[in-house]
Amino acid sequence: MENNRRSAIVTGGSRGIGRAVCLALAAEGVDLVIGYAGNEAAAEETAAACRALGVTAEPVRADVATEAGCKALFDRADELFGKTDILVNNAGITRDNLIVRMSEADFDAVLDTNLRGTFLCMKLAARGMMRRRSGRIVNLSSVVGLRGNAGQVNYAASKAGVIGMTKSLARELAPRGVTVNAVAPGFIDTDMTAALPEAVRAELLKSIPLGTMGKPEDVAQAVVFLVNAPYITGQVLAIDGGMAM
Ligand code: NAP
Repeated sequence: MENNRRSAIVTGGSRGIGRAVCLALAAEGVDLVIGYAGNEAAAEETAAACRALGVTAEPVRADVATEAGCKALFDRADELFGKTDILVNNAGITRDNLIVRMSEADFDAVLDTNLRGTFLCMKLAARGMMRRRSGRIVNLSSVVGLRGNAGQVNYAASKAGVIGMTKSLARELAPRGVTVNAVAPGFIDTDMTAALPEAVRAELLKSIPLGTMGKPEDVAQAVVFLVNAPYITGQVLAIDGGMAM
């Protein structure tokens, strides 16, 4: 059953940036399917915080690196809401190493989650959005996809790939009124960056003109802006304190 409320799938919504995106969309009255990989407690906590804002929010454990995982997200959204108006491809991982030490498995794992997962979810979203002649897709890229970063050949490839896919799909879906954009966060305070050694953090901070790390909410605000922007498509918005300019 379709309804008049907006509904979204946010992948990797249990923690960090994805959690902040879920809360920001909930504050806009958007119902949610919240994807996560394995952290059930965090996913339940995010869903409860969203429900407290008056929306339907359900966590779905689903590995975006697999077609079955992505399909589980869309099947649940169909059951709950009858449609998916908004897709935020946020799930992402790092497996950093210098190339001489980087295993093929670590290359593949990062590409499978960050790039293939985004492709699979966009493919599943496209048909319904084209049919309804409306829809919003926002993908999480990174400044690393724009500038590269030593020790992140795999991650940079995935995030640069996300930009290429974003622009290509924006062209494909524009005639149907569907927009596809990307955000490119810089150095944001989440579990992902908490793992960085102190010396690397200090060096990164020096490269940020605004001089501080970003917050997940800074990225979420930009995602909501793009979701609410009917005349913006194919863009990559850096949320990085000036890092990549
Ligand atoms: P995070 O705190 O590490 O959270 C990652 C999220 O992705 C979690 O919800 C995790 O679920 C989920 N996830 C991981 N692998 C998955 C898989 N195979 N299938 C489904 N879900 C999966 O990361 P974050 O820092 O918020 O980053 C979010 C996105 O922003 C990523 O795409 C990242 O590359 C991008 N980004 C982050 C930064 C930064 O500075 N933090 C900068 C640029 C871009 P569980 O909780 O179940 O593990």
